[in-house]
Amino acid sequence: MDRADTIVVGLGGAGASAAFHLARRGRSVLGLERFGPTHEQGSSHGRSRIYRTAYFEGAAYVPLVQRAQVLWRELQSESRAPILRPTGGLVLGTPESPSVAGALRVAKACRLEHELLDAEEVGRRYPQFRLASGEVAVWDPNAGALFPENCVRAHADGARAAGAALRYDEPLVSWSASSDGVEVRTARALYRAAHLVLSVGAWTRETVTDLRLPLEIERQFMLWFPPTDPATARPERMPVFLWDRGPEEHTYGLPDFGDGVKLGTWSGRISTSPGAVDRTFTAAEAEPVRRFVAERLRGVRSTETDHTSCLYTNTPDHHFVLGRHPRHDRVVVVSACSGHGFKFTSVIGEVVDRLVGGEDPGFDLSLFDPGRFEDPAGQSPAGADGRSPR
Ligand SMILES: Cc1cc2nc3c(=O)[nH]c(=O)nc-3n(C[C@H](O)[C@H](O)[C@H](O)COP(=O)(O)OP(=O)(O)OC[C@H]3O[C@@H](n4cnc5c(N)ncnc54)[C@H](O)[C@@H]3O)c2cc1C
Repeated sequence: MDRADTIVVGLGGAGASAAFHLARRGRSVLGLERFGPTHEQGSSHGRSRIYRTAYFEGAAYVPLVQRAQVLWRELQSESRAPILRPTGGLVLGTPESPSVAGALRVAKACRLEHELLDAEEVGRRYPQFRLASGEVAVWDPNAGALFPENCVRAHADGARAAGAALRYDEPLVSWSASSDGVEVRTARALYRAAHLVLSVGAWTRETVTDLRLPLEIERQFMLWFPPTDPATARPERMPVFLWDRGPEEHTYGLPDFGDGVKLGTWSGRISTSPGAVDRTFTAAEAEPVRRFVAERLRGVRSTETDHTSCLYTNTPDHHFVLGRHPRHDRVVVVSACSGHGFKFTSVIGEVVDRLVGGEDPGFDLSLFDPGRFEDPAGQSPAGADGRSPR
């Protein structure tokens, strides 16, 4: 491809979807990726991700997540590999905890199907969970799991089938933009195009230096625990869940899709760059999760059989970065993470295509404005509900 219409840099969750939607709309797309087609260095691996609808992070996310679910189902209809698995979801904690109170508030405000369950009712429906006295749960029937490696692969395959050229093991070294177009330099070549999409996840701060994005890279571990009673941990019996057990104690979990029940908590291990991340797994990392299993789950052994690390790219307000570069009309910047972005990557690709085309994105993106951190007064947009566990 001599000169693409759009270059997409970073072909993880968001970038593969952007390449897919851009190519499907007839644009000539060149995709460039630092590593291989799916890899464990970024944020879109680890076999499963939660999706949910009663989005306690703010009602502004609800139309996006609803559209994302439509697009995931469409992708599933084109893919032989599993893309999503509805299971329903529980947000557990005290009624005052930010996740429970927020999920309830948003479910009511957006008229989403939901139920508030007391501990007794949770025990009747889902005896795997041991609630503490006073804890409740919000039931979100439109929640479930996504299989991220399959999602990224299906988007990349679809992009290629629509004519996109995707080049792996070819990192961007530098980029520039003018009113005439964009240039991207890699170790192998200099590419020119009309538009540029920068979807480089944890590498955003060092790639989009002029925006001074105050991003923090947070290393997380995911752990897998074997069920002692396989029946109770199957996706038909165990929903995905988030559990607020105190200001600093948040655990999420997904049922056993064949490798055991997957769990994670926040480690709070912060680095300044993906290259400086300490990925050492120690007993101290595992201990809080093992304790959670022993104290709060029935039918699951409290010794993990597997683990892997993964990177959050956190903004201070925990909302995404998604929009046109404030000084370069031809450049779209995407960092949909802060620990909860994967479920949106299907719709993000569609939004990116519209932004590139100069169309109305179809959603209110003001919460995600890439320029919001340049103006210190704009750092806490309305609707910020604090830290998000996914
Ligand atoms: C442990 C963990 C659990 C999570 N759980 C959930 C969940 O349950 N639900 C949910 O919705 N979200 C969840 N998330 C968040 C979600 O996974 C991320 O928001 C999402 O995967 C981010 O996608 P991305 O495309 O921004 O980043 P990535 O998928 O990491 O993609 C960025 C890509 O850019 C490439 N790249 C970087 N620099 C360059 C360069 N110079 N040149 C070329 N390519 C480059 C990278 O190699 C990478 O492939 C979780 C995240 C983690 C870490």
